Amino acid sequence: MLDSGSVIVVGSANMDLVAYGPKLPSPGETVLADHFRHGPGGKGANQAVAASCSGAETTFIGAVGDDTYGDEILGSLRAARVQVEQVTRIRGVQTGVALITVDAAGRNLITVVPGANEAVDRQIAEKVLTLLSPGVVVLLQLEIPIETVILVADLAHTAGATVVLNPAPARRLPSELVSCVDILVPNEVELLSLAAPITVDRSLGGLARALLTGATRAVVVTLGKGGVLVVTREDEKRFAAFPVKVVDTTGAGDTFVGALASRIAARDGLGDAVRYANAAAALKVQAKGAQESIPKADDVYRFMEAVQRQAAS
Ligand code: ADP
Repeated sequence: MLDSGSVIVVGSANMDLVAYGPKLPSPGETVLADHFRHGPGGKGANQAVAASCSGAETTFIGAVGDDTYGDEILGSLRAARVQVEQVTRIRGVQTGVALITVDAAGRNLITVVPGANEAVDRQIAEKVLTLLSPGVVVLLQLEIPIETVILVADLAHTAGATVVLNPAPARRLPSELVSCVDILVPNEVELLSLAAPITVDRSLGGLARALLTGATRAVVVTLGKGGVLVVTREDEKRFAAFPVKVVDTTGAGDTFVGALASRIAARDGLGDAVRYANAAAALKVQAKGAQESIPKADDVYRFMEAVQRQAAS
């Protein structure tokens, strides 16, 4: 039985409209794709589903429009056992949409139209207040207004909760946000845009180390097939990616971050939480789609055991 903690995600929910084809278009180019699917996505909702699939009691706070995409998104979150009572439906506003193209190598191009996500304001964010306690993990991304992200991080930090920030999409972070974040989880591109130009050591480890300021005690950099780099004040450690056949990397980062938050909420040490999240994301890239193919804890542990058995034989 899993030791499950609580994760609260305040963030975005989108409908993903995805075309799978042989190649990505260049600017001005039209390419033909092989097939199309639509399904719920958005970094906030994806990470909430990933946290829940990994065993955490998970609440999602955000906004969708009063359209059919909003209905589908709420249905999908509920199916993943994510609490959605705190999601606001906004009349006359469209649910966020992401236009995604995936090529034969599993690379993607993404355009997001935020819609209702832009309306996640102070009033919506303050719903987090009744749920905060020192034991919970509050998980944030940057697909809702930055003022809201700062407010939630501040409320959570003040309440003694653990604040995990996935700084995506990439941008520089305001100092009042940095001072409230316990664990920062950027990918390589995001790490480069977070780095101050004056940082002398421009290695990945050096750039990550320079972000260990304020409340930030760990920077966990996801490096795609390069695995994960974990930098704390005491240590710098690289975790190799699990060797798998890639089908679709959409949502790999979201799976990693949600799984990581779940295991941190369950009081795993950072190394164990990263090892688990690395395995969860490796399972995810072997399946097509975003939310619907996020793996469950049982499958992740089974995969980790199989890899271990193979290594020992
Ligand atoms: P993002 O989706 O944000 O770009 P990354 O590409 O860094 O994030 O991937 C996140 C995590 O997903 C990686 O740290 C790794 O755990 C896993 N992952 C991604 N690509 C692969 C791959 N080719 N093989 C195995 N694991 C992968």
